[in-house]
Amino acid sequence: MSEQHISPAAVSTAAGLTPIPGNVDPMTVARPSLVDGVTPREDGRIDLIGLPKKRIAELFEGAGLDVKAAKLRAKQVYHWLYHRGVTEFEAMTDIAKTMRPWLAERFVIGRPEIVEAQHSSDGTRKWLLRTADAHDFEMVFIPDADRGTLCVSSQVGCTLNCRFCHTGTMRLVRNLTVGEIVGQVMLARDSLSEWPKNAEDSRRLAALMDDIGDDDDEEGGYHPSGRLLTNIVMMGMGEPLYNFDNVRDALKLVMDGDGLALSKRRITLSTSGVIPQMERCGEEIGVNLAVSLHAVTKEVRDEIVPVNKKYGIEQLLQACADYPRASNARRITFEYVMLKDKNDSDDDARELVRLLKHYKLPAKVNLIPFNPWPGAPYECSTPERIRSFSEIVFQGGISAPVRTPRGRDIDAACGQLKTAAEKKSRAEIDRLLAEKEAALLG
Ligand code: SF4
Repeated sequence: MSEQHISPAAVSTAAGLTPIPGNVDPMTVARPSLVDGVTPREDGRIDLIGLPKKRIAELFEGAGLDVKAAKLRAKQVYHWLYHRGVTEFEAMTDIAKTMRPWLAERFVIGRPEIVEAQHSSDGTRKWLLRTADAHDFEMVFIPDADRGTLCVSSQVGCTLNCRFCHTGTMRLVRNLTVGEIVGQVMLARDSLSEWPKNAEDSRRLAALMDDIGDDDDEEGGYHPSGRLLTNIVMMGMGEPLYNFDNVRDALKLVMDGDGLALSKRRITLSTSGVIPQMERCGEEIGVNLAVSLHAVTKEVRDEIVPVNKKYGIEQLLQACADYPRASNARRITFEYVMLKDKNDSDDDARELVRLLKHYKLPAKVNLIPFNPWPGAPYECSTPERIRSFSEIVFQGGISAPVRTPRGRDIDAACGQLKTAAEKKSRAEIDRLLAEKEAALLG
């Protein structure tokens, strides 16, 4: 989600269309054909980014190496790809010089293409990225005094149509692949020059990982490693739980100590409330959970977050209460966008406190001033209203900071992500939203 969000089955159907699994997604979307997780390229070479060590070893064996050599080379290559961030086989210095051209003839080390990079006056950076089959999506980096957060996309477009979100006015084009998701984090490390340069850097990274043990506060503290990219939020374009398998596999590469080595405590996945996948998320990924709540009554949430018509507030809060590993040290974040005269009354604030307490949720609330976009049907609440709302929630014993909008001048703020290629009239948007809602509830 941007406060938004965005998996595919392993093999495409004969028609090249893949239904996203189960009752959690009503739409069928075109996607590149994958053979055992590998996207074939025109030149016949195979892109290794997105593949786990075991799969790389299988490919090396398939290309002619014996089992033992394939395993050893896969271990080395994996380390260079995901831990050191090299983009050329020639840079893999512990691999024999004669072996490197052999690798380059058969494999590539991919990255999403950067179409455009924008800088906000507040330091926020937004990248417009392009997949190999020419679909655009976005990622955003938000630097703060004590952390740097990368907002990662999981889909091109979105099946959902949260009314305050610009991405919601796009059709879902397709799910991003594992390589395209982990590739965003890798691109950010490239841009920030943050790959470990040597074994000493790697040791410092490992120490940082150890330091953020299971007992630490979820926020971590600022770490003297001085790293710029410290946190990841799956809140870019799309609903990550509708692309569960790919998001999980990408985050495993991000969390692996010999991969990108980022602690799961520094990764947050944001969902609009796709209940059937929430428990799996806790069990199979184990990252922090954020939920786009945005309203406390059925009537208002049905309007703002239409997936509520399928999975209601009570069901959602119960799923949060059941979320594996939620605790006071790892609170669930509830995102609440402040919309003037819609969801921002004192009574709404009191009901929010009541609901979170009723379900005994280890919770914190993020109040997000609405970020307008052209044709948006809402206005942002006044600063006084937001303050009053925040105070009531704080007085109820629940932390409710007001988020400072970031990157508004480059349309990088929450709810603003949407690739420029998709320009529609209001009537077209209304028609699309009605279609998406019918499909969602169908
Ligand atoms: S429409 Fe909803 S689920 Fe989709 S990106 Fe926007 S906020 Fe996230």
